[in-house]
Amino acid sequence: MSDPHQLVAMFHGACLCGAVRFEADGPSLFCAHCHCRWCRAAHGAAFVTWLGVREDGFRLVHGAERVRWYASSQHGRRGFCDTCGTTMLYVSGLSPGEVHVARATVTGDVDRPPSGHVFHDHAVDWVVLGDDLPRWTSDHPGLEKYRQVPGRE
Ligand SMILES: [Zn+2]
Ligand SMILES: [Zn+2]
Repeated sequence: MSDPHQLVAMFHGACLCGAVRFEADGPSLFCAHCHCRWCRAAHGAAFVTWLGVREDGFRLVHGAERVRWYASSQHGRRGFCDTCGTTMLYVSGLSPGEVHVARATVTGDVDRPPSGHVFHDHAVDWVVLGDDLPRWTSDHPGLEKYRQVPGRE
């Protein structure tokens, strides 16, 4: 089967009300489901699927002034629409040069499927996952940098 994902050279997305629109150049950097308690709370969801893109290839093409940023940790900020509240973006000093885009706000295809579940030790017990993707916990070496300092959540 040919892979339709690799044909996607640019991604487009928007918030619920359409005031904020963005685009990002492919190829993406990663795609993964995050179960951390901070993503869950910020999005009001059981988990959040993130698409990582290069910061220098990311553009707010409409409504940039409508994006509000919430500092959810010492290092990280979460961007949302000031009108409809859609949480769309995550940037962090711990992942310089990257913008993490909520996959659900990207319309259409992207260049890769999710590769796994991160912070799976934070996962809720009221959703049963049906895939066989890797499930990484917060002590995974690649995630260690995102672990919050106690008391700073
Ligand atoms: Zn909006
Ligand atoms: Zn998360």
